[in-house]
Amino acid sequence: MHGLMMDSELLISTILRHADRNFGNQEIVSVTADNPLHRYTYQECFRRTRQLANALGKLGLMQGDRVATLAWNDYRHLEAYYAIGGSGYVCHTVNPRLFPEQVVFIINHAEDRWIFVDLLIVPLLEKIADQIPGVEGFVIMTDEKHMPETNLKNAVCYETLIGAESDAFDWPVFDERSASALCYTSGTTGDPKGVLYDHRSTILHAYAAVSPDVMNLSSIDCVLPVVPLFHVNAWGIPYAALMVGCKLVFPGPKMGDGETLYGLLEQENVSLALGVPTVWLALLQYADSAGKKLNKLQRTVIGGAAVPERMIRDFRDKHDVTVIQGWGMTEMSPLGTVSTPKFGMETLTPDEMIAVRAKAGRGIFGVEMRIVDDKGTEMPWDGVAYGSLQVRGPWICSDYFRLEGKSGSHTADGWFDTGDVAIIDEDGYMSITDRTKDVIKSGGEWISSIDIENTAMGHDAVAEAAVIGVAHPKWTERPLLIIIRAKGASLERDELLAWLEGKIAKWWIPDDVVFVDEIPHTATGKIKKIELRKQFADYELPS
Ligand code: AMP
Repeated sequence: MHGLMMDSELLISTILRHADRNFGNQEIVSVTADNPLHRYTYQECFRRTRQLANALGKLGLMQGDRVATLAWNDYRHLEAYYAIGGSGYVCHTVNPRLFPEQVVFIINHAEDRWIFVDLLIVPLLEKIADQIPGVEGFVIMTDEKHMPETNLKNAVCYETLIGAESDAFDWPVFDERSASALCYTSGTTGDPKGVLYDHRSTILHAYAAVSPDVMNLSSIDCVLPVVPLFHVNAWGIPYAALMVGCKLVFPGPKMGDGETLYGLLEQENVSLALGVPTVWLALLQYADSAGKKLNKLQRTVIGGAAVPERMIRDFRDKHDVTVIQGWGMTEMSPLGTVSTPKFGMETLTPDEMIAVRAKAGRGIFGVEMRIVDDKGTEMPWDGVAYGSLQVRGPWICSDYFRLEGKSGSHTADGWFDTGDVAIIDEDGYMSITDRTKDVIKSGGEWISSIDIENTAMGHDAVAEAAVIGVAHPKWTERPLLIIIRAKGASLERDELLAWLEGKIAKWWIPDDVVFVDEIPHTATGKIKKIELRKQFADYELPS
C-alpha cells in the first residue's frame, strides 16, 4: 500500500521559488572581472535568472542538452547554474585550470551546445575553438562596456542577451530524476570521466549539507565558497545556501589571493568559508605575514585533500576558527563524511578534539560506507584495520556519463569503489590513509603517505610535505619525504628525521628527505603524486 503524500518533484527550481519568497532581500556579493565588488539581492538574482531562462529557451535547446560554463565564482555563474538546470538542460561546469587538451576532450565528450565563458577565460577558448566544432555559440559573461574583441563564433554579451528578455518565466515541472548538472573528474590517469547529477540527488544532498551535523547552515550565515563552482558544484553550496537563505560572497578570479580573501571575510562578516587546504595555507600565510587576525569567521569546511593537524591548530589558536574537515568526491556530489563531534565528546580536551577534527569524519545520513580487503571481505571498524573504501547512497553516481556499464567502478553488489584506502574507528570516524594508487608497500605492509605528510607539516620549518614510495631492493618500496621549507626557515634532513621519531611508527620513518621549491598540484589542489613519482623514478635511497 502506498502512503498518501503528494508527489511533488524535487527540482532545483523549487529552491529558487522558496528563496525568492522567503529571503528576497538577502545579499549576494561578488568580485568579478568587470567589477571589484558587485552587490545585489536574491530577488534581483532570480529576476535575472528568469530572463536568462527565457533567453536560453530561444537557442533551440532540447531537454537534457548540455550547456557549459567556464567561469570563476560570481553572481552570473550562479544565475547560469539555475537558469540552465531549472529549465531542464544540463549545466556542465568545466574546470578552466585543466590542460587545454583535457578541456577539449571534456567539451566534445559532453557534446556541449553553448558555452558561458568568463571574460578572463575567453583567451583559453579562442585557442581551442577550432577543436570544439560542435559548440554553436558563446555567451561572454560581462556587459557591453567590457566586451572583448573575439573571434569566437556567435559570441554574445551576457548582459545584452538577458537585457532583451522578460523576467516572467514559469519554471517547467519534469521528472526529478532528470539530469541537472555535469562535472568531469580530474583523474590523474586516463580520460576525465563525467559525473551526471540529477535534480533529486541535488536536493537531497542540499538537505544533508545544511543540517547541524554537517555545515549547520541557516539564514543568519554568510558563506564564502572558495571552492570553485566548477569543482563538484562548489560542494553543493549554490543549492544549500539558497535553500536556507544565507548571504553569499563570491571571490571571482581572486580565489588564490590571501589578501582579497581576508578583506572579503572581514568586510562582509563571513561566518563560514569553504575550500581545499592549499587555499587556506595562502590565507593563513597572508594573515601571519601581515600580523592580522580573522575576527569574523567562525568555521571553515576544508576537504578535497587531508587537512594537516597544524592547520586545524592554527585556525583555532590564532583565529578562534573551528575547522570542519570533510571528505567526499566528485562522484558523491561530493559530501561523504564530516568531522563534527558527537555525543560523549563534550568532555574531550582541546587536544583530543583536534585529533577528532583531523580525521576525515563520520558518514552523514545518506552515505553508507564500508572498508574491504583485496578479496572484498568487509573489515572491522576498529581504528586499526584498513581497506578499500566503498560507498553507496542516493547522491552517489551509479556510473559515469556515456560509459554506462563499461567503467568497472562499482562492485557486483552495487557499491561505488572510491579508490581511497581508509581506516574507520569504533566511533565511525574515517581517516583516509592513501589513494589506492599512492599506497607505499614496504616489506608487504602498507605505509600511509598521508599520515607522514601531516606529521611532517607539524614542524615549524615545513611549508608543505609530500611522500612517495621509491623502489628499494630489499623492501620493494620505501618512503621518500619531499619538503618545501617555510619562508626563511633552515631545516636539514637529519634534524627533520630525528624530529619525526616517536611521532610515527619507527619503520615508517622515511629513508631520505629532499628539499624542493615547488610541489606540483592538480587543478583541484591535490598533490600530483604521479608527477613526483616520475620526477624521482631513478632516485637512489641511501643504503
Ligand atoms: P575530487 O573528486 O576531485 O573532489 O577528489 C576526491 C578525492 O579527494 C577523494 O577520493 C580523496 O582521495 C581526496 N580527498 C577528499 N577529501 C579528503 C580528505 N578530507 N582527506 C583525504 N583525502 C581527501
